[in-house]
Amino acid sequence: MKRKLRMGMVGGGKDAFIGAVHRIAAFMDGKIELVCGAFSINPEISRQSAEELFVAPDRVYADYEEMITKESQLPEGERMDFLTVVTPNFLHFAPAKMALENGFDVVIEKPMTVTLEEAKELKAVVEKTGRTLCLTHTYSGYPMVKQAKAMVKEGHFGKIRKIVVEYPQGWLSRLSEREGNAGAAWRADPKKSGLSLVMGDIGTHAAHLAEYVSGLKITELCADLSTLVEGRVLDDDGSVLLRFDNGAKGVLMASQISAGEENAVRIRIYGENGGLEWANEDPNNLIVKMLDQPRQLYRTGNAYTAPYTLSSFATHNTRIPAGHPEGLLEAFANIYRNFAATASAKREGRTPSPEELDFPTVDDGVRGMAFVQNVVASNASNEKWTKFEM
Ligand code: NAD
Repeated sequence: MKRKLRMGMVGGGKDAFIGAVHRIAAFMDGKIELVCGAFSINPEISRQSAEELFVAPDRVYADYEEMITKESQLPEGERMDFLTVVTPNFLHFAPAKMALENGFDVVIEKPMTVTLEEAKELKAVVEKTGRTLCLTHTYSGYPMVKQAKAMVKEGHFGKIRKIVVEYPQGWLSRLSEREGNAGAAWRADPKKSGLSLVMGDIGTHAAHLAEYVSGLKITELCADLSTLVEGRVLDDDGSVLLRFDNGAKGVLMASQISAGEENAVRIRIYGENGGLEWANEDPNNLIVKMLDQPRQLYRTGNAYTAPYTLSSFATHNTRIPAGHPEGLLEAFANIYRNFAATASAKREGRTPSPEELDFPTVDDGVRGMAFVQNVVASNASNEKWTKFEM
């Protein structure tokens, strides 16, 4: 593109958590600018947020419907190109659908919707409109996660047999939803959050990471969900046994009552010849453990030579020389950069490269919602194994 892509936002005001992270990520490469928004449920907070972000007052809208309607009436050289949806879960589907139907691309937070039906409908709209939808599964944006995926794909570990993925957090160890924490309050409300708190909020990240790195699909599962904080309506802890489409077995743990934990995402994958380990709290390291060999440490940003050469997907998503820490903001920015490159390529009639196309899409969103629904069904069932229905 000969110009920046123009971004609009629904949610992400001064009263929000993740919206600011989206802006840092979107702006990091200088290819995106913020032009409009309906930034908050509270119009005054939305107005103040816009002022601080230097968004023109006439591009601050009362709600997403007004924003999409009025933006579509602006001349092509002015109107937004894509909408970022960073509202609570129950307010993802409607703005995303309306934006796509009005010719805008979409960046949307996970879980993509609150039901599988909505997710499938959104996929149908993406297919009908031909627009681009990017789902922000943050952890898939790290260079060493890309390297792990590439090594599994090239058969470095042999046939994959075992996948262990964990996402423990401790921030819901108390009844924070009744103690004035707005983010906890909507997450703990089934109408706003969905069928499961822990699986929608963080289990979807873990399931996506397992499928993304392994290249495998979950086919069956056996789930145990619990509400361990008294007075909470939805679950806050879950363990799931997994079976994958190549016969591999897996374990997924997602927990928001793991007191003292921060965001301890970790994945271990074992094949016939060896395994790998990656952890969000040490993201520039990929530990490779081969049978009968000393342990190896692959690090972001190195120019290793064969046979240790880093994959083009890892280097494409690396920004700075080795040893300077890259973290979550850069991983998030990688997702935006790949989305922006793909959206721009499509607008220019160019075919995006495989590296540019490497970001989570509406298909991942549908699988995420299917994961939540299947986990909840398995937890409620007396059958040991539940087929992963889509
Ligand atoms: P939050 O409660 O901190 O912020 C929600 C924002 O949406 C607020 O600005 C609120 O005013 C606004 N909002 C609510 N209703 C609105 C409406 N009708 N119109 C306009 N704005 C409205 O929530 P959050 O923690 O920022 O989470 C938002 C979404 O991001 C959730 O779906 C969550 O699951 C997801 N999330 C993803 C990650 C990740 O790692 N990818 C991390 C955190 C949150």
